[in-house]
Amino acid sequence: TPLLTVSHLEKSYQKTHILHDISFDLDAGEVLTLLGPSGSGKSTLLRCLNGLEAFQAGTLTFAGEVITQKAKQWQQLRQQIGMVFQSYDLFPNRTVLENILLGPLKVQKRSRETVLPEVEKLLQQVGMRDYRDAYPRQLSGGQKQRIAIVRALALKPRLMLFDEVTASLDPEMVRDVLTIIRQLADTHQMTMLVVTHEMDFAQQISDQVLFLADGRIQEQTPGPQFFKRP
Ligand code: ADP
Ligand code: ADP
Repeated sequence: TPLLTVSHLEKSYQKTHILHDISFDLDAGEVLTLLGPSGSGKSTLLRCLNGLEAFQAGTLTFAGEVITQKAKQWQQLRQQIGMVFQSYDLFPNRTVLENILLGPLKVQKRSRETVLPEVEKLLQQVGMRDYRDAYPRQLSGGQKQRIAIVRALALKPRLMLFDEVTASLDPEMVRDVLTIIRQLADTHQMTMLVVTHEMDFAQQISDQVLFLADGRIQEQTPGPQFFKRP
Protein backbone atom coordinates (compact mmCIF):
# COMPACT_ATOMS: atom_id res chain seq x y z
CA THR A 1 0.00 0.00 0.00
CA PRO A 2 1.17 3.56 -0.68
CA LEU A 3 2.58 5.70 2.13
CA LEU A 4 0.54 8.65 0.89
CA THR A 5 -2.64 8.75 -1.15
CA VAL A 6 -4.08 12.05 -2.28
CA SER A 7 -7.61 11.72 -3.54
CA HIS A 8 -9.63 14.38 -5.37
CA LEU A 9 -8.08 17.28 -3.48
CA GLU A 10 -9.49 20.75 -4.22
CA LYS A 11 -7.99 24.01 -3.00
CA SER A 12 -9.06 27.60 -3.41
CA TYR A 13 -8.16 30.95 -1.94
CA GLN A 14 -11.36 32.94 -1.56
CA LYS A 15 -12.88 32.72 -5.02
CA THR A 16 -9.76 31.64 -6.82
CA HIS A 17 -9.61 27.92 -7.47
CA ILE A 18 -5.95 26.85 -7.34
CA LEU A 19 -5.87 23.02 -7.29
CA HIS A 20 -8.35 20.86 -9.21
CA ASP A 21 -9.07 17.18 -8.55
CA ILE A 22 -5.54 16.26 -7.45
CA SER A 23 -5.12 12.49 -7.03
CA PHE A 24 -1.90 10.50 -6.78
CA ASP A 25 -0.11 7.80 -4.80
CA LEU A 26 3.35 7.85 -3.34
CA ASP A 27 4.92 4.53 -2.38
CA ALA A 28 7.29 4.16 0.54
CA GLY A 29 10.92 4.66 -0.49
CA GLU A 30 10.06 6.50 -3.70
CA VAL A 31 11.35 9.86 -4.87
CA LEU A 32 8.58 11.75 -6.65
CA THR A 33 9.35 15.06 -8.31
CA LEU A 34 6.65 17.62 -8.84
CA LEU A 35 7.28 19.63 -11.99
CA GLY A 36 5.30 22.40 -13.64
CA PRO A 37 5.38 26.06 -14.59
CA SER A 38 5.59 28.81 -12.01
CA GLY A 39 2.14 29.47 -10.57
CA SER A 40 0.84 25.98 -11.40
CA GLY A 41 0.24 25.23 -7.70
CA LYS A 42 3.26 23.17 -6.65
CA SER A 43 3.96 25.06 -3.42
CA THR A 44 0.29 25.16 -2.56
CA LEU A 45 0.03 21.38 -2.96
CA LEU A 46 3.04 20.80 -0.69
CA ARG A 47 1.56 23.08 1.94
CA CYS A 48 -1.73 21.16 1.82
CA LEU A 49 0.20 17.91 2.36
CA ASN A 50 1.95 19.38 5.38
CA GLY A 51 -1.14 20.87 6.99
CA LEU A 52 0.12 24.43 6.47
CA GLU A 53 -2.91 25.07 4.26
CA ALA A 54 -6.43 23.80 4.65
CA PHE A 55 -8.16 22.42 1.55
CA GLN A 56 -11.83 22.45 0.63
CA ALA A 57 -12.42 18.91 -0.59
CA GLY A 58 -10.73 15.57 -1.05
CA THR A 59 -8.87 13.26 1.30
CA LEU A 60 -5.33 12.46 2.32
CA THR A 61 -4.42 9.01 3.54
CA PHE A 62 -1.06 8.72 5.27
CA ALA A 63 0.28 5.33 6.37
CA GLY A 64 -3.20 3.86 6.04
CA GLU A 65 -4.86 6.55 8.12
CA VAL A 66 -7.34 9.00 6.65
CA ILE A 67 -6.36 12.53 7.64
CA THR A 68 -9.15 14.78 8.67
CA GLN A 69 -8.24 18.41 9.02
CA LYS A 70 -8.31 18.47 12.78
CA ALA A 71 -5.44 20.39 14.34
CA LYS A 72 -4.61 17.66 16.84
CA GLN A 73 -4.11 15.05 14.16
CA TRP A 74 -1.83 17.38 12.22
CA GLN A 75 0.36 17.91 15.28
CA GLN A 76 1.17 14.21 15.29
CA LEU A 77 1.47 14.04 11.55
CA ARG A 78 3.98 16.87 11.32
CA GLN A 79 6.40 14.70 13.25
CA GLN A 80 6.23 12.22 10.39
CA ILE A 81 6.30 14.68 7.52
CA GLY A 82 9.44 16.80 7.29
CA MET A 83 9.69 19.84 5.10
CA VAL A 84 12.65 21.79 3.72
CA PHE A 85 12.13 25.20 2.14
CA GLN A 86 14.06 27.39 -0.22
CA SER A 87 15.05 29.58 2.74
CA TYR A 88 17.02 27.68 5.33
CA ASP A 89 15.57 29.22 8.50
CA LEU A 90 18.54 28.25 10.64
CA PHE A 91 18.87 30.05 13.96
CA PRO A 92 21.80 32.45 13.49
CA ASN A 93 22.91 32.40 17.13
CA ARG A 94 23.12 28.64 17.37
CA THR A 95 25.77 26.35 15.96
CA VAL A 96 25.05 23.82 13.23
CA LEU A 97 24.82 21.03 15.79
CA GLU A 98 22.52 23.02 18.09
CA ASN A 99 20.27 23.89 15.17
CA ILE A 100 19.95 20.21 14.27
CA LEU A 101 19.50 18.88 17.82
CA LEU A 102 16.76 21.32 18.76
CA GLY A 103 13.89 19.32 17.21
CA PRO A 104 14.86 15.81 18.33
CA LEU A 105 15.71 16.93 21.89
CA LYS A 106 13.13 19.65 22.62
CA VAL A 107 10.21 18.63 20.44
CA GLN A 108 10.60 14.86 20.41
CA LYS A 109 12.18 14.64 23.89
CA ARG A 110 14.70 12.07 22.74
CA SER A 111 17.98 11.72 24.59
CA ARG A 112 21.18 13.38 23.42
CA GLU A 113 23.05 10.07 23.60
CA THR A 114 20.75 8.40 21.08
CA VAL A 115 20.34 11.39 18.77
CA LEU A 116 23.96 12.53 18.56
CA PRO A 117 25.37 9.45 16.77
CA GLU A 118 22.53 9.60 14.23
CA VAL A 119 23.14 13.28 13.57
CA GLU A 120 26.88 12.77 13.22
CA LYS A 121 26.28 10.06 10.66
CA LEU A 122 23.94 12.32 8.69
CA LEU A 123 26.46 15.19 8.83
CA GLN A 124 29.11 12.87 7.50
CA GLN A 125 26.83 11.69 4.71
CA VAL A 126 26.28 15.23 3.49
CA GLY A 127 29.94 16.12 3.86
CA MET A 128 29.43 18.54 6.75
CA ARG A 129 31.00 16.68 9.67
CA ASP A 130 33.69 19.33 10.16
CA TYR A 131 31.12 22.10 10.47
CA ARG A 132 29.15 20.96 13.49
CA ASP A 133 30.41 23.83 15.64
CA ALA A 134 30.20 26.48 12.92
CA TYR A 135 27.54 29.18 12.87
CA PRO A 136 25.16 29.53 9.90
CA ARG A 137 26.78 32.81 8.75
CA GLN A 138 30.05 30.95 8.20
CA LEU A 139 28.44 28.61 5.65
CA SER A 140 27.70 28.96 1.95
CA GLY A 141 24.12 28.69 0.68
CA GLY A 142 24.61 25.09 -0.38
CA GLN A 143 26.11 24.20 2.99
CA LYS A 144 23.23 25.85 4.84
CA GLN A 145 20.77 23.92 2.70
CA ARG A 146 22.51 20.64 3.54
CA ILE A 147 22.21 21.50 7.23
CA ALA A 148 18.53 22.32 6.78
CA ILE A 149 18.07 18.88 5.18
CA VAL A 150 19.92 17.14 8.01
CA ARG A 151 17.83 19.07 10.53
CA ALA A 152 14.63 17.80 8.93
CA LEU A 153 15.97 14.23 8.64
CA ALA A 154 17.09 14.17 12.28
CA LEU A 155 13.39 14.08 13.21
CA LYS A 156 13.17 10.75 11.36
CA PRO A 157 10.13 11.62 9.27
CA ARG A 158 8.55 8.99 7.06
CA LEU A 159 8.00 11.50 4.28
CA MET A 160 10.15 14.47 3.29
CA LEU A 161 8.82 17.41 1.29
CA PHE A 162 11.32 19.66 -0.50
CA ASP A 163 10.05 22.99 -1.84
CA GLU A 164 12.47 24.45 -4.39
CA VAL A 165 15.39 23.76 -2.08
CA THR A 166 17.90 24.52 -4.83
CA ALA A 167 16.29 27.72 -6.10
CA SER A 168 18.74 30.09 -4.42
CA LEU A 169 21.85 27.98 -5.00
CA ASP A 170 24.70 28.29 -7.47
CA PRO A 171 24.53 25.68 -10.25
CA GLU A 172 27.33 23.54 -8.83
CA MET A 173 25.60 23.48 -5.45
CA VAL A 174 22.35 22.40 -7.07
CA ARG A 175 23.95 19.18 -8.26
CA ASP A 176 25.42 18.57 -4.81
CA VAL A 177 22.19 19.03 -2.94
CA LEU A 178 20.07 16.95 -5.31
CA THR A 179 22.63 14.15 -5.32
CA ILE A 180 22.51 14.17 -1.55
CA ILE A 181 18.71 13.94 -1.59
CA ARG A 182 18.89 10.84 -3.82
CA GLN A 183 21.59 9.24 -1.65
CA LEU A 184 19.60 9.86 1.50
CA ALA A 185 16.53 8.35 -0.12
CA ASP A 186 18.50 5.24 -1.02
CA THR A 187 20.37 4.74 2.25
CA HIS A 188 17.44 5.51 4.55
CA GLN A 189 14.61 4.16 2.40
CA MET A 190 13.08 7.62 2.70
CA THR A 191 10.02 8.71 0.78
CA MET A 192 10.52 12.09 -0.80
CA LEU A 193 8.43 14.59 -2.71
CA VAL A 194 10.64 17.14 -4.44
CA VAL A 195 9.50 20.35 -6.13
CA THR A 196 12.18 21.60 -8.49
CA HIS A 197 12.74 23.50 -11.70
CA GLU A 198 15.95 21.60 -12.41
CA MET A 199 14.94 19.20 -15.17
CA ASP A 200 18.40 17.67 -15.52
CA PHE A 201 18.48 16.71 -11.92
CA ALA A 202 14.85 15.72 -11.74
CA GLN A 203 15.80 13.19 -14.39
CA GLN A 204 18.56 11.79 -12.21
CA ILE A 205 16.66 11.52 -8.96
CA SER A 206 13.05 10.70 -9.90
CA ASP A 207 11.29 7.38 -9.55
CA GLN A 208 8.05 9.13 -10.51
CA VAL A 209 7.25 12.48 -12.05
CA LEU A 210 4.06 14.39 -11.42
CA PHE A 211 3.48 17.19 -13.90
CA LEU A 212 1.20 20.00 -12.81
CA ALA A 213 -0.24 22.74 -15.04
CA ASP A 214 -2.90 25.28 -14.04
CA GLY A 215 -3.54 23.40 -10.83
CA ARG A 216 -4.27 20.08 -12.53
CA ILE A 217 -2.20 16.94 -12.78
CA GLN A 218 -1.36 16.46 -16.43
CA GLU A 219 0.33 13.15 -15.83
CA GLN A 220 2.04 10.86 -13.35
CA THR A 221 4.78 8.93 -15.08
CA PRO A 222 7.75 6.79 -14.04
CA GLY A 223 10.87 9.03 -14.18
CA PRO A 224 12.76 7.15 -16.89
CA GLN A 225 9.69 7.17 -19.14
CA PHE A 226 8.96 10.87 -18.57
CA PHE A 227 12.41 11.96 -19.63
CA LYS A 228 12.91 9.53 -22.51
CA ARG A 229 10.48 11.30 -24.79
CA PRO A 230 11.72 13.77 -27.42
P1 ADP B 1 4.03 27.27 -7.85
O1 ADP B 1 4.61 26.78 -6.57
O2 ADP B 1 3.77 26.20 -8.85
O3 ADP B 1 4.81 28.42 -8.43
P2 ADP B 1 1.98 28.34 -6.15
O4 ADP B 1 1.42 27.19 -5.43
O5 ADP B 1 2.98 29.21 -5.43
O6 ADP B 1 2.59 27.84 -7.54
O7 ADP B 1 0.81 29.28 -6.65
C1 ADP B 1 -0.28 28.78 -7.40
C2 ADP B 1 -1.28 29.88 -7.58
O8 ADP B 1 -1.88 30.17 -6.32
C3 ADP B 1 -0.70 31.19 -8.07
O9 ADP B 1 -1.61 31.74 -8.99
C4 ADP B 1 -0.60 32.04 -6.82
O10 ADP B 1 -0.70 33.41 -7.12
C5 ADP B 1 -1.78 31.55 -6.02
N1 ADP B 1 -1.58 31.68 -4.57
C6 ADP B 1 -0.57 31.12 -3.86
N2 ADP B 1 -0.69 31.42 -2.56
C7 ADP B 1 -1.80 32.20 -2.46
C8 ADP B 1 -2.46 32.85 -1.38
N3 ADP B 1 -2.02 32.76 -0.12
N4 ADP B 1 -3.58 33.54 -1.66
C9 ADP B 1 -4.04 33.65 -2.92
N5 ADP B 1 -3.47 33.06 -3.98
C10 ADP B 1 -2.36 32.35 -3.75
P1 ADP C 1 6.81 30.74 -4.86
O1 ADP C 1 8.10 31.43 -5.23
O2 ADP C 1 7.00 29.57 -3.91
O3 ADP C 1 5.96 30.38 -6.04
P2 ADP C 1 5.34 33.13 -4.42
O4 ADP C 1 6.41 34.17 -4.61
O5 ADP C 1 4.36 32.84 -5.50
O6 ADP C 1 6.03 31.76 -3.95
O7 ADP C 1 4.54 33.46 -3.11
C1 ADP C 1 5.16 33.80 -1.91
C2 ADP C 1 4.11 33.86 -0.82
O8 ADP C 1 3.02 34.69 -1.21
C3 ADP C 1 3.49 32.49 -0.54
O9 ADP C 1 3.34 32.34 0.85
C4 ADP C 1 2.14 32.51 -1.22
O10 ADP C 1 1.18 31.78 -0.48
C5 ADP C 1 1.79 33.99 -1.18
N1 ADP C 1 1.04 34.35 -2.40
C6 ADP C 1 1.37 34.05 -3.67
N2 ADP C 1 0.45 34.52 -4.51
C7 ADP C 1 -0.46 35.17 -3.76
C8 ADP C 1 -1.68 35.87 -4.06
N3 ADP C 1 -2.14 36.00 -5.30
N4 ADP C 1 -2.36 36.40 -3.03
C9 ADP C 1 -1.92 36.25 -1.79
N5 ADP C 1 -0.81 35.60 -1.44
C10 ADP C 1 -0.08 35.06 -2.42
